[in-house]
Amino acid sequence: MTFVCKNRTFYITYSGLSSRRVGTRFLGSIVPIPNPTEFPLENEPILSYKKGSPERKELEKVLDKMASECEEVPLVIGNEEIKSNLCKYQVMPHNHKEKIAKYYWATPDLVKKAINVAVKAQREWEKQPIEKRLEMWLRIADLMATKYRQQLNAATMLGQSKTVIQAEIDSAAELIDFFKMHAYFVKEGLKYQPISPDQQTRNSIRYRGMDGFVAAVSPFNFTAIGGNLSYTPALMGNAVLWKPSDTALLSNWWIFKICREAGVPPGIVNFVPCEGPVFGDTITTSPYLAGINFTGSVPTFNRLWAQVGQNLAKYRNYPKLVGECGGKNYHLVHSSADVESVVNATIKSAFEFNGQKCSACSRMYVPESLWAKVKDGLLALRQKLTIGDVRDFTVYTGAVIDAVAFKRISGYIEYAKKSPKMEIIGGGGYDDSCGYFIEPTIVQTKDPKEKLMTEEIFGPVLTIYVYKDSDLDETVKLVDTSTPYALTGAIFAQDEKWARKALEDLKYTAGNFYINDKSTGSVVGQQPFGGSRMSGTNDKAGGPQYAFRWASPQAIKETFVPLQEYDYPYMRS
Ligand code: NAD
Repeated sequence: MTFVCKNRTFYITYSGLSSRRVGTRFLGSIVPIPNPTEFPLENEPILSYKKGSPERKELEKVLDKMASECEEVPLVIGNEEIKSNLCKYQVMPHNHKEKIAKYYWATPDLVKKAINVAVKAQREWEKQPIEKRLEMWLRIADLMATKYRQQLNAATMLGQSKTVIQAEIDSAAELIDFFKMHAYFVKEGLKYQPISPDQQTRNSIRYRGMDGFVAAVSPFNFTAIGGNLSYTPALMGNAVLWKPSDTALLSNWWIFKICREAGVPPGIVNFVPCEGPVFGDTITTSPYLAGINFTGSVPTFNRLWAQVGQNLAKYRNYPKLVGECGGKNYHLVHSSADVESVVNATIKSAFEFNGQKCSACSRMYVPESLWAKVKDGLLALRQKLTIGDVRDFTVYTGAVIDAVAFKRISGYIEYAKKSPKMEIIGGGGYDDSCGYFIEPTIVQTKDPKEKLMTEEIFGPVLTIYVYKDSDLDETVKLVDTSTPYALTGAIFAQDEKWARKALEDLKYTAGNFYINDKSTGSVVGQQPFGGSRMSGTNDKAGGPQYAFRWASPQAIKETFVPLQEYDYPYMRS
């Protein structure tokens, strides 16, 4: 294998194989890295699921079994499995007549019961040495990677309508990485101890769990997020009430079962499905609320934050609020961009998992000089995107998550159809007779401030604004100022000088910024994830600081010599 450089582009050549383009000359130098560190852990490998592969055979078996059953999912509070009289069903989004889980919502009294159990369990849990907890987390990661990998994937495919690759990168790779990498970061972080300047005193820090309980409120779109929001605080010595999303219930239940099998004691993570506002109202009025670990939409996080503010005088501690919210992620194309990269990256970012990734590209800015080529490329690929039941391994995407999402997304499409400023140039169809299917849709707008360019749609709708090449600087400003979000963004350019400038001009527009790559696909340990502005508190799940956000550190000073003075020498004559 050798590196060859042609026209400012690096190619890897393998003997006997054709060359593969891997990047441009300036990449790597644009953001200088002071001390690249060796990382001893590898990310969980992503399996291929090619026809005939052992993983595919096993997955198909599990899919058949899971699809033919409707699993009973109880609430779990401490040791108790509870079925309330608020019974609900999770259905397959791509075939909404098929039920895959029967579950129960907690009443306010059950949420209060879970709080009591958690608060008591926390003190015992925290006494377990951290080494024991770290070992347990690696055991969980191992069970997820081996014995239960296909159960997690099948539940994610059937319940959240993810294709096999989207499930594998979420409910296998990312979930496993959260458990093993956060354990590694904690082990490393514990090595830091404060300065002890002489032999007479010793300073140390110990990491306690927080005094109370943590509420983990997770979204539907990533199984891995559910596992991370609930179990990373638990790793740090907290007890948790986990409220999973109704539309990710089965996959989240599998995480809970696996952790229980690996030895997480009763009461440490309590599995509490509940109607959102009932859960929010109950936890925010408890004096024991120590933290909320939330991922979901801005309105829900705003409501929880406001409720915490209203109840402040009730609490024993100031609750820690960590929230990762929505985005209106952009692809900004420069006239020097490589069109093929732009087209492939945009199709993947905008339409994989139906644009239901918080990082999905939803607005795009293309210079007039490249528009004809970019448009042809996008439309040609869009034509090939098949949608359907995700058990058919040839489909590109499944259905959107539920009737509410279907109505919201199709509403944006209808709005675009009627607007004189917009033209649907690809797709625009939808049908919910069997599953909640929406065609990958591409809209061109004359107005860069149209609501399709500024609001989070969270569906397979990409809106494009074509700018005059001479308006490049104004377009950069538009990218910065059009939305209240700052989650992810990507620029595409071969012009190194401009890319450097854009990196600075767009500094506050994204917590995860990409150069010549799609705005989705962050990997635990590689691109710690989170945004600022209204996209969240930017606590970077998958990075070295994240788990420590869930500890309450205590600084301890020990003195080994008698204290013989009460005053200061300068006071004496
Ligand atoms: P959502 O806000 O509707 O729901 C999130 C969770 O909050 C669910 O469990 C829901 O039941 C619960 N909930 C709803 N109302 C509540 C209330 N009043 N009190 C307490 N809990 C309540 O979001 P969603 O549709 O599940 O997820 C999609 C959203 O999540 C999008 O906006 C997406 O961008 C965002 N998201 C962000 C990230 C990120 O890392 N920034 C990752 C994934 C998803």
